[in-house]
Amino acid sequence: MTIWFATGNAHKKKELAAILSGHTIKIPPDGGIADFDPAENGTTFLENALIKAQALYRLVKQPVIADDSGLCVDALEGRPGIYSARYGSEEGVSLTSPERNALLLRELGDHPRRTARFICAMVFLAREDRFYAVQETLEGEIIREERGRGGFGYDPILYLPDMGCTVAELSEETKNRISHRGKAGKVIDLALKAFF
Ligand code: IMP
Repeated sequence: MTIWFATGNAHKKKELAAILSGHTIKIPPDGGIADFDPAENGTTFLENALIKAQALYRLVKQPVIADDSGLCVDALEGRPGIYSARYGSEEGVSLTSPERNALLLRELGDHPRRTARFICAMVFLAREDRFYAVQETLEGEIIREERGRGGFGYDPILYLPDMGCTVAELSEETKNRISHRGKAGKVIDLALKAFF
C-alpha cells in the first residue's frame, strides 16, 4: 500500500519506510505539497500526532500516518518534550541539532539525575473518523558529551545502558528494532494489516 506520512523530516521518513518495509511511504513534498506545517498546538504527543494526521488527510483524502516525538528529561521536568523540535529556537530561528544538544547539556549541567526517554505517539488515520493510535518509549540517560554519528536529532546524547552506547552509535537496523518509533511502527503495521 501507499501510505502518506505527515512529516517534513526526511530522517523520520527513512526510518518509517524501513519499519513499514511492505509499504510505500510518501511525505507531503512527494505529492507536491510544499510547506506542510500545521500548527502543533496540542498539549500531548498524541494530540499533535492527530493534528498532523488530520491536516494531511484533508489534503490527500487517503490513509495517513503521523507521529509526534521528542526527548523528555526527568531532571528538566519532562522538557523539551513536545517542544523538542523547537527547543532553543527564538523568533523563528532554529538551532542545528548539535547546537540543540549542546544547549541541553548546558541546561542539565552536572545534575546527577540523568534519566530521560524518547517518546513517540503514532497515529494511523484510515478515514476521517477512524484512527488507530499507539505511544512508545526508548529509555536512556543523558550522556555528558555527544557520541556517535548515526541517526538524527538528540541521538548522540541519549545513552542506552543496556546496549552500552548512545542511540547515534546503533546501526539503523538496531535503532529501528528497539526505538520508540520502531516499536510504535510495529503496532501501526498490525493496524494496517487489520484495516486493508
Ligand atoms: P516532531 O517532528 O514534531 O515529532 O519533532 C520531533 C523532534 O524530537 C525531532 O526534531 C528531534 O529533535 C526529536 N526526536 C524525535 N525522535 C527522535 C529520534 O529518534 N532521535 C533523535 N531525536 C528525536
